[in-house]
Amino acid sequence: MSAEVETTLRGPQAYELARDALAQMESHKVWPTPLNFELWLHYLGDPKGPLGLEIDRMLAAGEPFTEEVSETLAQTFLPRARLNDEIRDAGAQLSKELKSVASAIATAQKTQEAYGRTLAVAGEGLENAEEAPVVRQLVDTLSAATRKVQSDNALLEKRLQESTREVNLLREHLEQVRRDAMTDALTTLANRKAFDEHLTRICAESDEAKAPVTLALIDIDHFKRFNDTWGHQTGDQVLRYVASVIGRVANEPRIAARYGGEEFAMIFPSERAPVVEAALNAVRQEIATRQLKRRSTNEELGAITISAGLAQRREGEDPTALMERTDAALYVSKRSGRNRVTNAETVEQKAA
Ligand code: GH3
Ligand code: MG
Ligand code: MG
Repeated sequence: MSAEVETTLRGPQAYELARDALAQMESHKVWPTPLNFELWLHYLGDPKGPLGLEIDRMLAAGEPFTEEVSETLAQTFLPRARLNDEIRDAGAQLSKELKSVASAIATAQKTQEAYGRTLAVAGEGLENAEEAPVVRQLVDTLSAATRKVQSDNALLEKRLQESTREVNLLREHLEQVRRDAMTDALTTLANRKAFDEHLTRICAESDEAKAPVTLALIDIDHFKRFNDTWGHQTGDQVLRYVASVIGRVANEPRIAARYGGEEFAMIFPSERAPVVEAALNAVRQEIATRQLKRRSTNEELGAITISAGLAQRREGEDPTALMERTDAALYVSKRSGRNRVTNAETVEQKAA
């Protein structure tokens, strides 16, 4: 983010800019999510910057601002998540440095204590000597200087401990920020960015272990109609409900994520398609048989359904190709009547 935009966001025109952003979002039918708002603030704050030019281009082309598009824009043009990693590493580095300085001081402290004791013993030995007074004074001076250094060092050590504590707090905070950047705020499932990273990692691991992986995509049926009938807020509650059912079957090492608006994705490491198909059908049935109620008024909303597609990964298949086959299976579920689960393999067998 450029320093100019930062200044605009905090400068005298900040509120006007924020109002403009909301108004423009509304006129372009862009949902007022925090992410979209952030994108539009940056767009208006720096209209000729790279983000501004891209949004101009999209508006001119009439391309829609889906959640997916917003995520991509944010990842490309808002360098926040990348920065988090760097800051966290810097935090780890700093607390390592502090630790090593602290241990150096502790060592020096011990050496000085030993030196102080040596001086004290030397002082006692001088009690009866002829030339005692002069040397004795010298030893006393050295002893006093040593005590002073020791007390200074003790203070330094205490300060250092405080700094170390603060750096550790900062690091925990950054860890939290990083976790937030990987989590979908509405459902608390992993978000798309986290999911993409998991999928890449799990595919690589399965190659190494020569183990199967199965991927699933789940999409709520006719959700636009539901929103239109009951409102967006009730729609959000339903998203949370569906996420909770999906989350419940996603025990370790399975992964569940909100992939986009009303679409969810799951990874089933070491599991084959038939087992995953059964698990998805259980989710589908549970959702379809649950009579939903609006929380505030207890109004009956009826039931909703989901459609799902799944595909077991082929050996060496890259994540994008696997996603495409899974998506094709989901599409078959939609086309053949919704409220069903389709295994990519059965579709591909028929096509062959
Ligand atoms: P289909 O059965 O073919 O999937 O139909 P659909 O209406 O579910 O699919 P479509 O892609 O046409 O519309 C998706 C709708 O999901 C549009 C939007 O109203 C809704 N939606 C997307 N994200 C959110 C969200 O965060 N909250 C709410 N309440 N609704 C959302
Ligand atoms: Mg849908
Ligand atoms: Mg959809």
